[in-house]
Amino acid sequence: MSRSDEYVVLGAGITGLYTAYCLLNDAKISPTKVTVIAQYLPGDQSIHYTSPWAGGNFSCITPNDPDTLEFDKYTYTHLHELQAKIGGPEKGIDHNPTTEYWDVYPGDVKVNSLKTYLKDLQIIPKFQLPAGVAFGIKYTTWDFFCPFYLANIKKYLEAAGVTFIKQKLTHISQAYLPRTKVVFNCTGIGAFSLSGVKDSNVYPTRGQVLVVHAPHIQENRMRWGEDYATYIIPRAHSNGQLILGGFLQKDNWTGDTSAEESKDIIKRTTELMPEILDRPLEILAVAAGLRPSRYGGVRIETERVEGKLLIHNYGASGYGYQSGFGMAHRAVQLLLKEKRGAKL
Ligand SMILES: Cc1cc2nc3c(=O)[nH]c(=O)nc-3n(C[C@H](O)[C@H](O)[C@H](O)COP(=O)(O)OP(=O)(O)OC[C@H]3O[C@@H](n4cnc5c(N)ncnc54)[C@H](O)[C@@H]3O)c2cc1C
Repeated sequence: MSRSDEYVVLGAGITGLYTAYCLLNDAKISPTKVTVIAQYLPGDQSIHYTSPWAGGNFSCITPNDPDTLEFDKYTYTHLHELQAKIGGPEKGIDHNPTTEYWDVYPGDVKVNSLKTYLKDLQIIPKFQLPAGVAFGIKYTTWDFFCPFYLANIKKYLEAAGVTFIKQKLTHISQAYLPRTKVVFNCTGIGAFSLSGVKDSNVYPTRGQVLVVHAPHIQENRMRWGEDYATYIIPRAHSNGQLILGGFLQKDNWTGDTSAEESKDIIKRTTELMPEILDRPLEILAVAAGLRPSRYGGVRIETERVEGKLLIHNYGASGYGYQSGFGMAHRAVQLLLKEKRGAKL
C-alpha cells in the first residue's frame, strides 16, 4: 500500500483521535494519507497525557457559550456512529443512567439546550432533591472506559491504514513531513510549551480520581457545587471499574497524588452514593490528571506555518470526551472550507 503524510494530526489524546476519525469519515480522506504523531500514544501514562485519566462521561458542567453547547449536542447525538465503527459498546463506550445535582441552578440557556437532545431527561421535583441542591436531572448518558476506548479508536484507525509515529516535537514546524499539506494541532496541555504555538492562555485544571472495583454500581451520580465537584462514573465494559472524583484545581501542575485528597473523595462520593459501600471498598488505582483549560475557551482556528495550513484543535478542559467529537467535526469543516476556497 503506497502512503503519504498529506494530513498530520499532532496528538493522540481523545482530541487527536476524534480528529483523525473525522478526517476519514467526514472529509473522506484516504487513511493512507493520514499520520498521527504524538509523544504519548494510547497505552502510555504520563501527567503530560490527560486523556487516560478522564472520568469519563457526558455531563452538564460545560460552559454555556453557543459553540460549546453545539459541540456537546453534536457529540452526544453522533457518538453512536463512532461506537458502531470501532466495534460496539464493549469497546469502552456505552449508555448508562445518570443523576446530576447542582447547588446553583445552571441557567435556562443550558437547560433549554439539554432539553432538545438528552435521552430520557427528567427534571427531579424539588421535594426529592437532597439538602443544599437547587436543581437536579436524570437522563441517559455516555460512559467511557477511557484508556481502553482510546486504544480501540487507535486500533480502528490503524486497521483502516492510518500511521502512528511516537515522537516528541519541540517546534510545530517539525510536524510538517515532506508531503504534508495540513497539520491539526491537538496537543492539549502541550500547546502551552510547544514552540511555534506557546499559547499562554492554556492552563491546567488538575483533578484526582480513584479507580475502585464496584461491579454493583451501574449508574452515574454527579454533584456540582460552587467550589467543588463530586462524581461517580462507571467505566463502560470494564469488569466493574468505577471512577470516584474529584477536584478542579486551577493552575496546579502537579502530577503527584495526595492521600488527603483521596480521603476527601471517598467521603464525598460515599455520602452522595452510600450504596458504594455495600461491598468493601477495593481501590485499584489513584491518579492525577491535568485538564487542558484555556482562557477564551477551545481554540479551533486556522493559521499558516511557512505557507502551509495549520488547524488548531485544543483546550478541551474537562470535556474532551463529551465535546471533542463536535470539536473535531468543526476542525475538519475548516479543512473542507479551505479546500473549497482552493487554498490547499
Ligand atoms: C480527572 C479528570 C476527569 C475528567 N473527566 C472527564 C469526563 O468525565 N468527561 C470528559 O469529556 N472529559 C473529562 N476530562 C477531560 C478530558 O480528559 C480532556 O478534555 C481530554 O483528555 C483532553 O484531550 P486532548 O487530546 O486534548 O489532550 P491529551 O490527552 O493530553 O493529548 C495530548 C496529545 O498531544 C501530544 N503532545 C503534546 N505535546 C506534544 C509535543 N510537543 N510533541 C508530540 N506530541 C505532543 C501528547 O503526547 C498527547 O498524545 C477529565 C480530565 C481529568 C484530568
